[in-house]
Amino acid sequence: MVKKEETGVEGIDLEQEQREIINAYRGLLRASKDLRDKEDTKLIKKAFNVALDAHSGDRRKSGEPYIYHPIAVARICAEEMDLGTTSIVAALLHDTVEDTHLTLDDIEEMFGSKIRMIIDGLTKIPEVFDENVSLQAENFRKMILTISDDLRVILIKIADRLHNMRTLESMRKDKQLKIASETQYIYAPLSHRLGLNSIKTELENLSFKYKLPEVYEEIENKLEKTKDVRTRFIRSFTNPIKRVLDHEGYVYQIKARTKSVYSIWRKMYQKNIPFEEIYDIFAIRIIVDTPIELEKPDCWRIYSLVTDFYQPNPDRLRDWISTPKANGYESLHTTVMSPTGKWVEVQIRTKRMDEVAEKGYAAHYKYKDNSIEPSKFDRWLGEIKDLLENPESNAIDFIDDFKLNLFSDEIYIFTPKGDLKVLPKGSCTLDFAFDIHTDVGCKCIGAKVNNKLVPLSHELNSGDQVEIITSSKQTPKSDWLKFVSTARAKAKIKSALKEERRKITTDGKEVLYRKLNGAKIPTNDENLNALVKLFNVSDIAELFYQSAKGKINFKSLKDFKLINGVIQVPSDIDTKQDDLSKELLNAVDIKKDTIVIGESFKDLPYKLSKCCNPIPGDEVFGFISAHEGIKIHRTECPNATQLMSKYAYRVIKARWESQKLEERMVQLRLIGVDDIGIVNKITEIISNQHSVNMKSIFFNSEDGMFEGNITLYVYDNKHLEAIIDEFTRIEGVKTVERRFDESAETEE
Ligand code: MN
Repeated sequence: MVKKEETGVEGIDLEQEQREIINAYRGLLRASKDLRDKEDTKLIKKAFNVALDAHSGDRRKSGEPYIYHPIAVARICAEEMDLGTTSIVAALLHDTVEDTHLTLDDIEEMFGSKIRMIIDGLTKIPEVFDENVSLQAENFRKMILTISDDLRVILIKIADRLHNMRTLESMRKDKQLKIASETQYIYAPLSHRLGLNSIKTELENLSFKYKLPEVYEEIENKLEKTKDVRTRFIRSFTNPIKRVLDHEGYVYQIKARTKSVYSIWRKMYQKNIPFEEIYDIFAIRIIVDTPIELEKPDCWRIYSLVTDFYQPNPDRLRDWISTPKANGYESLHTTVMSPTGKWVEVQIRTKRMDEVAEKGYAAHYKYKDNSIEPSKFDRWLGEIKDLLENPESNAIDFIDDFKLNLFSDEIYIFTPKGDLKVLPKGSCTLDFAFDIHTDVGCKCIGAKVNNKLVPLSHELNSGDQVEIITSSKQTPKSDWLKFVSTARAKAKIKSALKEERRKITTDGKEVLYRKLNGAKIPTNDENLNALVKLFNVSDIAELFYQSAKGKINFKSLKDFKLINGVIQVPSDIDTKQDDLSKELLNAVDIKKDTIVIGESFKDLPYKLSKCCNPIPGDEVFGFISAHEGIKIHRTECPNATQLMSKYAYRVIKARWESQKLEERMVQLRLIGVDDIGIVNKITEIISNQHSVNMKSIFFNSEDGMFEGNITLYVYDNKHLEAIIDEFTRIEGVKTVERRFDESAETEE
């Protein structure tokens, strides 16, 4: 903060400035007029005067009086979040304790203990976190802890951040980047989870603007250039809808919502398509004003009217009115075909739904008679507390697990007694078991889903009735981490495994020390480190662990050479690689050599890796593994990035020889709309049109969707692409992708 006296700002008309401050304050009062009575107005006025006085003389980086900032934050709370007087007062005062002579005691004396508590919470959240990630995460954790006291702390903090993002222009470039990254990392997802959709969109968009300014500008220009055409199109598209809605006597509003620059960019990036190919640059939103009991029938009636004019795409119908999203979002979405052959997304919702969607939870409560509803939000808070209470999870894991829960959609699962449990989409039976109780999770051996026996990894669907089967002999396995998806299950399994490993390691230490004593070898660090090398393990803990597991050959202890009680390690023992690996690394010049697959390579053996099943024509590379010779992977293999970045010195170029026809196995996954005869069409393509051999085919269909897993033999990737192309053309097939076998372990 910069004091006026120090900068000697000149040429400012102070009277003019006072008038403008009063104007800004009046703007705040206007924005909150539905939310306050006389008493409230007095309180807001008092807070304004206290803040004005405390910040007097302070200026923001932009040079304007500091008081503009708290006024703007308070106005965001009122106007964009529907928050009441307490929040407006706290927002006006939010920077006083940190930046001025006022203390928390002063605040309490003037405004009471509730405001004190909120200001206290706000003051504790640092403005800009450190670059150091773990510190950032740690701070975030503290911040979440404060929400549990009062949710308003977090909402005002978001408003504060939003105003800072809107005025980021005057900051130094490096600060801009830092604040923008943090906003994108923490505040945007948090806003999303709290149902503040327009704020989330704006935060993401502003972050993007400061992080990639050139890209931002380019897309913005394109939007501007295409604006007139879009406006004309929207007018002619909405005209018939307006006529029929008028005719039916609806009170409504139609808005055209253009996507934010950031969402356009994300779509371009994810789908790898140019701006011109994005069909849903804008969406049409129909907002109808109707009493709560008529909401559902009216929305569906309007859907029916719209689709009388325009043909809908059944795959793109989303009904979030019957089942709202976890963050409270309700709306009916459809995508229809315009007469010019363009797909247009139409969102249908009521005024209430629109307010909740834009302004989040506070707006939601406004429509409840009793503003206390044991909501999904409380359950979410409960989950966060679970995570916080787990001492095993470090700050980084916490953030990852937390984000995991932020973005997931939900499924509804019934217990055998008919109780409803809500889990993130993608949860499996084991997630459900851990949701019931940690002990149930740890002892789970399987489950009955709708009376059918299924494994632990079975993915659950909304509406499933699940009975967990346990056994007292069961213990948590590290494999489990591969298929559970809830933060809770992950944390519990990790801590159980750690505990188990700790026990084994302690046992192993005892075993090893006993053997060393028997061989008269002193048990000191020097010798333990020597054993780490001699037994080729990663560290001392691993040495203990392997000792307990019986994997260490104690017989060789007596062969070790000791000088003055110290084990001598022969100089040619290099750690962590076996002879084959060493031999390969010596024989191969990774800069020059290229493996030509199909021809012999320096008489060295190589194998195609099982995790990605490369076929001729694929982009590939060779990798010298520690124990299994050279493996060929596809560059698209999920393991490739890790291998290439961690062990660059083991990567060899590889390519396919020009031609020898040989059949190779590939696995494909098809997803689409279930339709009689679709399996026939698929097998027909396989058998007739390409004369490929099929090894296996497996179809599963549920709720009108099918998933097919096909294993077949092809010659090369051109051949494969041709088949994929044929599959894609079958009506009803939505995606065809080549599968990776993630269960096939890659040896490093
Ligand atoms: Mn502030």
